[in-house]
Amino acid sequence: MRIAVAEIAQETDTFSPMTADINDFKAYGLFYGPEILERMRGAGAIGGLLEIVDEQTEPVELVPILRAWAGAGGTITQETLEYLTEKLVAGLKAALPFDGLFLALHGAAAAANDDDLEGYVLEKVRAAIGDKIPVIGSLDHHANITARMVRHATVLIGHETQPHDTVGTGRKSARALFRILKGEIKPTVAWRKIPMITPQDQFLTSQGPMKQWFDLAREMERRPGVIDVSPYPMQPWLDVAEGGWAVVVHTDNDPALAESLAKESAQLAWNLREQFWASERVSVAEAVRQAVAADSGLIILSDTGDSIYGGAPGDSTVILRELVAQNVPALAFVPIIDVEAVDAAFEAGVGATVTLDLGGKIDNVFSQPVRVTGRVGAISQGVTLDVEGRGICDIGKTALLEVGQIRIVLMAERSFAVNHPVLYAHLGLEVADAKMVVVKTASNFQFFSRWRKGMIRVDAGGMTQSDLTAFDWKRVPRPMYPLDDLPNWKP
Ligand SMILES: [Zn+2]
Repeated sequence: MRIAVAEIAQETDTFSPMTADINDFKAYGLFYGPEILERMRGAGAIGGLLEIVDEQTEPVELVPILRAWAGAGGTITQETLEYLTEKLVAGLKAALPFDGLFLALHGAAAAANDDDLEGYVLEKVRAAIGDKIPVIGSLDHHANITARMVRHATVLIGHETQPHDTVGTGRKSARALFRILKGEIKPTVAWRKIPMITPQDQFLTSQGPMKQWFDLAREMERRPGVIDVSPYPMQPWLDVAEGGWAVVVHTDNDPALAESLAKESAQLAWNLREQFWASERVSVAEAVRQAVAADSGLIILSDTGDSIYGGAPGDSTVILRELVAQNVPALAFVPIIDVEAVDAAFEAGVGATVTLDLGGKIDNVFSQPVRVTGRVGAISQGVTLDVEGRGICDIGKTALLEVGQIRIVLMAERSFAVNHPVLYAHLGLEVADAKMVVVKTASNFQFFSRWRKGMIRVDAGGMTQSDLTAFDWKRVPRPMYPLDDLPNWKP
């Protein structure tokens, strides 16, 4: 068996003022050919594929073509989309004939002239390889499913959990691909768009309505003839033409079963729509007061408006400003992206006292720079670490700024490590000593779980804020819950 392997993935925040280009892909990992198989063992969906390939008794030849991942950020430039697609298509044409294509995608990527990146890529792939070769698309479950994606992929499989198990999704997708190639299954598809968007507050699959919806999918997958049931609660900062939640069901040559399950799943999500809007968010001032007053142990302050994993810039000062204003008496760790501040700290040198206007430069809609005076405690040219399940990650240049009890880590790059304890450890800080840490995510607190005593969802404005009704929606289909009334919707 000969299987082509590729990945083009990014999560776009269309409300972000940033754009993403080829340098963003280079920063997170842009690999070609055999290097992909060396780099991706244990990481991402391709890492999952490699594990399943190892289990096969028949020989499998992998043809690695392109791996392009850029985390989350702004809209992708058209030039970048076309460059990556041309590389992929040229590689596939050169690799023909092959038996199947394993294509790792995010699902919520938008480019300047085409806001359905995955639909665009899959369409070009089909045009290059024809209709016969199975194409398995592994997706983030925050994907926006579009008609083109469903038409051109043979099977689409989304994550089962938030936080995501990307390797596990790769394994699940690879198993489906091998079953198709061995002639064990003939996938049929049914899907529903669900006209709703919801904030990230209820996105964890371990609790609440999201658990109920995902549990139903797992239960359906145990029924005879069901290949995969993937719910897609679209990430909510995506103002695109076919935006909205979805569910995709694949059955083994049983379209009627797929239809009925897609309907049932969509109906459950719709029935739970008000619960998906439940929130425990706390105002910024109150959140800082609660963290100061908490018993010993680490309090995670979730900066819901500035989630780097959701595509925000990471330079919001909303929480930092409050920490400074309250002159917090306990150690507080805060990351902020500010390349100018990093340069200024490097120039001043370790031990120097500097006055800097921090952050609020990329996103100056929701936050403004905050002036602080502090001591440069450490500087670093950066370290490279292997984040479990995510692969190799460069932290980039960093500097530690000490302002009273606040320890600000200035970062030159929007590294995936922004929410990882090594960000503090590599500058000589002990997470165990901190009373609170600001994380630029609303869901991925797992890296701090060892120290975590509590977590406060801070109602912070920003490009990934939970108050979705405040955005100026221009492209999503209407009516859309809860922007509009649509009491009579049926799946
Ligand atoms: Zn996601």
